[in-house]
Order: sequence, then structure tokens, then C-alpha cells
Amino acid sequence: MTAEVRELARERDAVLLAHNYQRAEVQDAADFVGDSLGLSRQAAATDAAVIVFSGVHFMAETARILAPDRTVLMPEPRAGCPMADMITRAQAEAFKAAHPGLPLVTYVNSSAEVKAVTDVCCTSANAVRVVESLGEPRVLFAPDRNLSAWVASKLPTVEVIAWDGFCPTHDQVTAADVETARAEHPDAEVVAHPECRPEVTALADAVLSTSQMLAHAAESPAREFIVVTEEGLLHSLRKAAPDKVFHNLTSRMLCPNMKLTTLEKVRDCLRDGTGEVTVPEDVRVAALASVERMVAL
Ligand code: SF4
Repeated sequence: MTAEVRELARERDAVLLAHNYQRAEVQDAADFVGDSLGLSRQAAATDAAVIVFSGVHFMAETARILAPDRTVLMPEPRAGCPMADMITRAQAEAFKAAHPGLPLVTYVNSSAEVKAVTDVCCTSANAVRVVESLGEPRVLFAPDRNLSAWVASKLPTVEVIAWDGFCPTHDQVTAADVETARAEHPDAEVVAHPECRPEVTALADAVLSTSQMLAHAAESPAREFIVVTEEGLLHSLRKAAPDKVFHNLTSRMLCPNMKLTTLEKVRDCLRDGTGEVTVPEDVRVAALASVERMVAL
């Protein structure tokens, strides 16, 4: 199947992008595997006519925002992100209207419509830096209340007013889960994603985005890790540091939306040209401005 997918990609002049949380076989067939923003940068830089984005909807939208002259296809267009869906454009506008003059910082895990009314976007890797760079004593943050709490813990002089969204996969992890895993693997370093609750990040040895976890795993003197993020990253981690041991925190660390995409669907999408993702031009231009402000900071 992988050979068939690669041949179709060549015939269609397509580049295959896969998020770190995708199934292992989808990652292995891709040209690039990474986090949402890293993949969007690949999308913007590619010469390919077609971008096949294996991930969730806001990621394909972001690729489209950055690469408007390419055709962006999703093998499984129904793959959404519950956290991104926890705030609409109207809600973001009302959030701003209720706090006049405060900048709205929005995690890239959000729709193009929400990005379009955002002052500046951020990723889990740069959220602290983005908020700090604004130099404001009060900032609005959406949609993730946990990433917001992480930012606030790092910037005690800034009041971060959070939207009440969360990632269902990361938010269900408890401190007891971490304590149980530590008891089972006492020599392992705990690396947690900032989408986890504060009670979980407080117990971690390092709080890192997925791209930071990959770099950290290769560089750290630790030989063993308990990974507190979606289980798809384990595949990338084991490839990046094959001499190290990575434990999944629990079998519940699984995003069902990310797993909707299969290699068969990637093949069908390439073969049939289905699943195109578009963004209205006025929304795209406004959303691009909030992404570009992040990149410029
Ligand atoms: S892991 Fe969480 S934030 Fe990522 S796509 Fe799934 S629900 Fe959304």
C-alpha cells in the first residue's frame, strides 16, 4: 500500500504531510511528519501542486492559509479537532468585546474564522514567548485553558484571561496517572504537553510541545521517558531516538479524530482528488495576518 501511495503522489505532483499523532503507517508514507505549524511551513515552501494533509481540519486550513495557490486535500475531511470547535468566530468576537482593548492570543489549534479575528497566533512551543512579547499586563487567550494556565504560570506579572476550551485527549490525564507511571518506571523522565491540566504539568520533569519533545529525547542524557501526549508521537520518538525507551502514559492517550485517517484513505484521496479544503479569501487574508504576526515576533 505504501508503494502505491508513493507512486500516486509522484503522478499527482503531491506532497504528503502527516501530523505526529497520525497512525504509524500514515507517518511512514509521508514526505514530512511534524507538528501543525512545522507542516504548514513545509506546505508554504513546497513546489508540489497538491498538498495532502493527514491531520485534523484546522491544520489543513492553516496549510491553505499559507499556501493559497496549492490544492490542499484531506484524506478524511471529517477529522476535526474538538478543542478548535470549542470557540466560534462569534464567540471570539464577543470575548474581545467583553474585554475592550485587550489583545486576543489564539492557539493555532483554532479555525481560520477564529484566527481571522485574532491579534496574534501562537503554538504550544512559543505561547509563553508570544504573550510575553506583547508587553501587556492583561491578555485574552483562546481556546485552551490548560495552555493558558501554563503561560500564566511562566509569566506571573501578566493576567491571562482564558477561554474555557480544552483538548479532550490531554485534559483527561490526571496526577494519579502520572504517579502510577512513575512508580512503574522510576528511572524515566516525565515529559508532558502543555495541553495537560496544571496538576499534570506540575508533576512533569519537562513541559514541551511535540517538536520540543522530539528534540529533547535525542539530546537528553535520560535513557527512558514517560510520554504524556497523544500516543502517535511515540512512533516519531522511537525513530528519532531508537536507542531510548518511551512509555505511553496510558492507553487513553489517543485522539480518535487523528486516527480517522488511514493509509487507504490517503490512497483514495490521491487517486480521486477528493477532500479539498478551502478558506474564503477574506478570511484567509485576515487569518494570515495573525499567523504572520506570530512569525514576526
Ligand atoms: S489531540 Fe486534542 S488538540 Fe490535537 S486534534 Fe486531537 S482533540 Fe484536537
